[in-house]
Amino acid sequence: MSKLLRDKYEDVDLTPGQGKGSAALSLFFSSLSLLAALCFWVPALFTTPEFRGFYNPALLKPLLQLAIAIGFGFGLYAMLRHPSPGYGLTGMLLAILAALIGSGHIEAPNIASRNLYVGLDYFVLTLVILALVFIPLERAFAKDPTQNILRKGWITDLKYFMFSHMGVQLISFFTVIPIQVFLHQVTTWSFQLWVAAQPIWLQFIELLLVVDFGTYWIHRAMHEIPALWKIHAIHHSTEQMNWLASSRLHLFEILVNRFAGYLPIFVLGFAPSAVYAYLVFISFHAIFIHANLRFRFPLLRWVLATPEYHHWHHSSEDEAIDKNYAGFLPLYDVLFGTLFMPKHLASRYGTVSDPVPDGIVGQFLYPFKSWLKRQ
Ligand SMILES: [Zn+2]
Ligand SMILES: [Zn+2]
Repeated sequence: MSKLLRDKYEDVDLTPGQGKGSAALSLFFSSLSLLAALCFWVPALFTTPEFRGFYNPALLKPLLQLAIAIGFGFGLYAMLRHPSPGYGLTGMLLAILAALIGSGHIEAPNIASRNLYVGLDYFVLTLVILALVFIPLERAFAKDPTQNILRKGWITDLKYFMFSHMGVQLISFFTVIPIQVFLHQVTTWSFQLWVAAQPIWLQFIELLLVVDFGTYWIHRAMHEIPALWKIHAIHHSTEQMNWLASSRLHLFEILVNRFAGYLPIFVLGFAPSAVYAYLVFISFHAIFIHANLRFRFPLLRWVLATPEYHHWHHSSEDEAIDKNYAGFLPLYDVLFGTLFMPKHLASRYGTVSDPVPDGIVGQFLYPFKSWLKRQ
């Protein structure tokens, strides 16, 4: 049993011929097809209201059928080749379930209802897009070429990714909504109209400068205040960096970061188009700087946070501890004396003395247990 639990968190060797790659592909396509089929089936519950207007069922349904067929095909192959036929069989069963749900009555998901929802569509779409971008990119330009696609801790990180995407409404409920409710009590300030009237590109730059200043100090506090470090240690517990490592964040940290990010956005009154452009850009960038990539960006590396810069932040090497706090602009690390950019690249990652557990539940409880122990 303990071996099984340990294996669950280890990496998976996808060398061709063992049926492991096809098992992984089958589970990937079949489980995402099942989630997509659920979106078609009950769109009012499983899709994001802002996205519904963009969906075209006539185009999406054949895509779903193709994904189901791929999931089933890889499942069949994995069942024959993989030492444990259970993976392939599970993939095939999930594909059949997706086909059954997806072949029923398909509602056009263009529903304006804004009741409680789970963003299954947001999760499926972002996972597919990011996997399509980052898996080939990390294969072609790997910083650590020996690292597997399904590296140590990938299941845990995938769960974090799932939660932060499906739970957007829940996260907004604790972050955006309190700020909006509070600001609605006060009248619109004239400077907000002035801010929103500026060119979008200028607002975009101002957003980067303002939000990054706040998040620099929050991040630094998370490292330098021992009680807060126990929360942030979860993010640093990743021992192998890749694009999915960006998702590993304690719920408390997600809420604090979003709140701190949204507060200046709403108080200063930036135009929605600038805010959307900023949010899409910054979300993609956060994933990019965790990726297993060896690009060094000769001049840009001093101006913008790159994988090289943020990998040093995650490094467990002595000289790199508590350095490179900025999310986007290393300028703040230069100003406040925390920049670390040597000539070579970081090579070891993880927390130095915190025994952070492997699973998501253990990680959620870790800070609370640490606080109780200290008293
Ligand atoms: Zn940190
Ligand atoms: Zn990070």
